[in-house]
Amino acid sequence: MALYDYDLFVIGGGSGGVRAARMASGYGAKVGIAEEYRWGGTCVIRGCVPKKLLVYASHVHDEIADAAGFGWTIPEAQFSWPKLIENKDKEIARLSRIYVELLTKAKVEVIEAHARLVDRHTIELDGRQVRAKTILLATGGKPERPRIPGIEHSITSNEAFHLPHLPKRVAVVGGGYIAAEFAGIFNGLGAKTHLLYRGAPLLRGFDGDVRAFVTEEIRKKGVDLRTNSDVEAIEPAGTHLRLKLKGGESLDVDQVLYATGRVPNTEGLGLEAAGVDVDKKGIIRVDGHSRTSIENIYAIGDCTDRLALTPVAIKEAMAFVDTVFGGKPWAMDHSNVAHAVFCQPQVATVGMSEVAARSEGRRLDIYKTNFKPLKATLSGSTERVFMKLVVDRASQVVLGVHMVGADAAEIIQSIAIAVKMGATKAQFDQTVALHPTAAEEFVTMRTPEPEPVEPGLEDMQAAGE
Ligand code: FAD
Repeated sequence: MALYDYDLFVIGGGSGGVRAARMASGYGAKVGIAEEYRWGGTCVIRGCVPKKLLVYASHVHDEIADAAGFGWTIPEAQFSWPKLIENKDKEIARLSRIYVELLTKAKVEVIEAHARLVDRHTIELDGRQVRAKTILLATGGKPERPRIPGIEHSITSNEAFHLPHLPKRVAVVGGGYIAAEFAGIFNGLGAKTHLLYRGAPLLRGFDGDVRAFVTEEIRKKGVDLRTNSDVEAIEPAGTHLRLKLKGGESLDVDQVLYATGRVPNTEGLGLEAAGVDVDKKGIIRVDGHSRTSIENIYAIGDCTDRLALTPVAIKEAMAFVDTVFGGKPWAMDHSNVAHAVFCQPQVATVGMSEVAARSEGRRLDIYKTNFKPLKATLSGSTERVFMKLVVDRASQVVLGVHMVGADAAEIIQSIAIAVKMGATKAQFDQTVALHPTAAEEFVTMRTPEPEPVEPGLEDMQAAGE
């Protein structure tokens, strides 16, 4: 009798787990994978994909408003939330099916069950046990809410994708990317939207200028954005909810969405039984090759909380499989990973913020621009674009590129190649502009900002950047 049922058993059928299972099978390993909810994981079922579809829907409002300046007369538009959700659900179901097909075509054994480690080689799957030589944990993350009175009346992003009706008034609580994105979705679709954030400005961790700029732009869009604002309790009040705010104020809404953080999905996973080390938040500790404290157990993606992004989970999966099953060892490089916030207007960034670069003791040349895009000259939109380059003065290497404005994510994805290659400011300048675009500003900025009297590091750190 074989010692193991599988060469590799993967727990979690999301972005990272599915990629690892398919690739390992491609290298000839006997692979099983367990998923307890829906194939595709957070990104496909209740993250990136459905979120972006709702973002597209919410932009239509602005497109209609812009049309008049270009000569169009559009009769009053009607919007149906149930139709949008129905269409979104169909697409998500289609994608989820494709994930299963890809796995079965790759000869991976697909198991719909909750998986729990019994020891370092044994996994329990809803009552039965299997044994694997190598185990990969790819269980992702889940939303976390503060324990305030009445929190059970709130929803998280998970439920937001399934609301039966668009709320007339909604409060989004949080200041990170998921809060900013949902505020944009609800506001664009016509709900009176309040965004309550206990800090200021939004998007901690992003460049300070980007944070200040996008915070104001979101306000200009009509979101009631309240910084230094916190909810102390939620009370049902007739057909709606009453939020008791810090400072004694109250706010009546029909729905409250908490986007105040995510935690790894590691509770009840049997990590202790297998001897896998976690930190106090339940984050699985791994080395540069995604190996946990137990030699034959690896972990990738959001449950390791390195950079909680889909393409990162996928690349970590590829590095793991090439290393352990392909005989081609390499380690994932987490530097210069581009990422975006699909709020309105969009934010996208690659590389270092100004404060991160200064905190390494570097002297910098900072280039910034802030302008009205060509489209706005006829549309009448007041939306502006912001761009910033963070350049190392000694080497002239571009360390960080930041943008707020339409299509920022599409633009920064391409610029990320140059940043990853270590391009210098002179190489940006040698690149001929593509006219007329907003992106051309990235290769035409010539005058650095005056050197700050004080680099402003402490101010920026105090602001939580
Ligand atoms: P997941 O995709 O979360 O998959 C983990 C899977 O494991 C889940 O399906 C879960 O059901 C399953 N599971 C957990 N425990 C068990 C168990 N014990 N047994 C069996 N199955 C189990 N990233 C981007 O790059 N771009 C974006 O625009 C973006 N937008 C997002 C928007 C939202 C609202 C959210 C919540 C996330 C977003 N993300 C985005 C993050 C992205 O979704 C995650 O980084 C990515 O899905 C992580 O992949 P993963 O494989 O680590 O985990």
